[in-house]
Amino acid sequence: MKRVNFYDFTINKLQELLLDNNFKKFNANQIFKWVYEKKITDPLHMTNLSKSLKSFIADFFEFADLEVVTRQVSSDSTEKFLFKLIDDHVIETVLMKYDYGYSLCVTSQVGCSMGCTFCASGLINKQRNLSIYELVSQVVTVQNITNEKISNVVVMGTGEPFDNYDNVMDFIRVINYKHGLQIGSRHITVSTCGIIPKIYDYAKEDIKSNLAISLHAPNDEIRSKIMKINKKYPIDELINACKDYTAISGRRITFEYILLKGINDETKYANQLSDLIRGINAYVNLIPYNPVNEFGYAKTDPKRAQKFYKQLEKRGINCTLRRELGRDIDAACGQLRLKNN
Ligand code: SAH
Repeated sequence: MKRVNFYDFTINKLQELLLDNNFKKFNANQIFKWVYEKKITDPLHMTNLSKSLKSFIADFFEFADLEVVTRQVSSDSTEKFLFKLIDDHVIETVLMKYDYGYSLCVTSQVGCSMGCTFCASGLINKQRNLSIYELVSQVVTVQNITNEKISNVVVMGTGEPFDNYDNVMDFIRVINYKHGLQIGSRHITVSTCGIIPKIYDYAKEDIKSNLAISLHAPNDEIRSKIMKINKKYPIDELINACKDYTAISGRRITFEYILLKGINDETKYANQLSDLIRGINAYVNLIPYNPVNEFGYAKTDPKRAQKFYKQLEKRGINCTLRRELGRDIDAACGQLRLKNN
């Protein structure tokens, strides 16, 4: 029998499997604790389990980490891992080291079909969704390699997480679970380009992880030019969904706004943006554009970026100007692609 990957199992799914095989529901927690808390994956060493359960685990599950193709370290200590999947596709995962802990930027799909005109990840169309275990394994593998505890996860790597909704939610269930990887819901953020129906689903999830919206423009004219998704889900509908999201979930929302030179970085656009989101429980994360060779966009110069930031502040909008990490190894936002040199 072909063994299945353990990291594909949420606690509920594991409980069901065990009950179906005449084991006890509580065994699922015992196994989770061994694997995720004690990092023991050899059932022989799971001392509180019965002989029959140990042999069931040995026969049924495999616990393989992802295969590391390359590991690059940036001068600012950001690391980028290139992993090879069993069907030979490769994905990238980025580890960022902050004073408050280690944050992992996780990839949700092989390639991406959202077609944002500034993002390197879209240079290759979506080949497929990542499975639950491929999502969980990005965290497990990086923890195993670095021997560090990941305390924050952002689903902001390649792909559109809401185009792989079910697997991303089960991934969150596993990493958030008290006997799983124990990453608090407030330390998990999912970023979407704006797939509205999924924003409503996400608002109703039992685990209240954070939501970030890749907004990047204050009006339909600019947004439709730079993001294909805006033609399907225009900005007013998106903003309404965001308002509903904050009301339903009780959570604050983040708007990401890349500053693109000459496109969306004038003061009048800061004014439009502040009018657009006024009153929403939200803050704006201004992102310096990381150049991608194939595209014609340039980064807003720091002075203008500062001006944009100040203008939002003046108009009462909470905002931050994001630090750039990992530029020298193409690990920064929007630079992820299948490139390993
Ligand atoms: N598909 C999701 C997840 C990707 S998140 C989404 O769109 O939100 C990656 C973030 O980096 C998004 O906000 C994306 O718009 C931004 N990004 C893409 N290309 C970038 C670039 N070249 N420079 C800076 N940020 C970029």
